[in-house]
Amino acid sequence: MERYDRQMRVTTIGKTGQAKLLTKTILIIGVGAIGSYAAEICARMGFGKLILMDRDYVEWSNLQRQSLFTEQDAREKQAKAYAAYKALQLINSDITIEYIVDDANMESLIPFAEEVDYLLDCTDNFATREMLNQFSFKYQLPWIFTSCAGNYANIMPIIPPYSACLHCLMGDLPQTNTASCDVIGVDGALIPIVAGMQVSLLTQMILKPDFSANTYYQLDNWQFIFRSFQVKKRSNCAGCSSKATIEKPFSKQTIALCGRDTVQFHLSQKSNFDIIKHRLLAEKITYLENPALLSFDYLHYQFIIFKNGRVLLHGTENILEAKKIYQLFFN
Ligand SMILES: [Zn+2]
Repeated sequence: MERYDRQMRVTTIGKTGQAKLLTKTILIIGVGAIGSYAAEICARMGFGKLILMDRDYVEWSNLQRQSLFTEQDAREKQAKAYAAYKALQLINSDITIEYIVDDANMESLIPFAEEVDYLLDCTDNFATREMLNQFSFKYQLPWIFTSCAGNYANIMPIIPPYSACLHCLMGDLPQTNTASCDVIGVDGALIPIVAGMQVSLLTQMILKPDFSANTYYQLDNWQFIFRSFQVKKRSNCAGCSSKATIEKPFSKQTIALCGRDTVQFHLSQKSNFDIIKHRLLAEKITYLENPALLSFDYLHYQFIIFKNGRVLLHGTENILEAKKIYQLFFN
């Protein structure tokens, strides 16, 4: 417990609080910008078990703000969840850390519903947040919504079934990614502030007997403006009331990743790297392989094929074009 000495001296945490943090399992959805920092803070503070879920691999444009990754991770196209797991293991080997290279969707999350105590939303899109909102109310899992773009950040703790949800706050969630950091960028210095607030709220949820949700925080790190608003739970909310109507299906459909010139789709089964490599060797196409994925250029596109059968095709946002290229290569 020596490593937590300075934290146990803090009166709001103390030895009892520290012991409590060590019993908690936190599922961190997305270990990109906010997720990197949040996961590192959680690991150092001694939350007992961290499960890291991320569907992406490390790219050069991530290094400006995603604190757990190195140039070597970008060169090797390491899966973010795996690279984060490796980095965090070196920081705290006393806690349990697991990683999952997958999309966060109902199908991939349900196996964790029993085990997990809290969720951190460190994703970059509202489609996933809408699914998280539904998942959290279905399994009564408290979570903390965060989003960042430019110099602005939004944060709200949500505690089902009593607190307001994301739809109580926003009504219909944004359908496009026009305000995401892929499109308008994000200030690297904003990220640790937001992640620090997110983990502070998480710690309070666990340790503060009178912690109350229903507060939405807004932050501008350029003007140094910090605001908080009370959010009322809507009695007929489509997301969290007994009249909830939003049903998010398993999200294995083909989607264009807006702002990233990329289409994502799923093979009908797990990828067989041996068969794909055989084909690549026959066509003299060079490839990169690591524990999570296989990557190669094909025509003027780039394929990233994950072990679980998920495929990213870089070079187009057009789903029909992506399907054509996929058929060209896989048939
Ligand atoms: Zn609601």
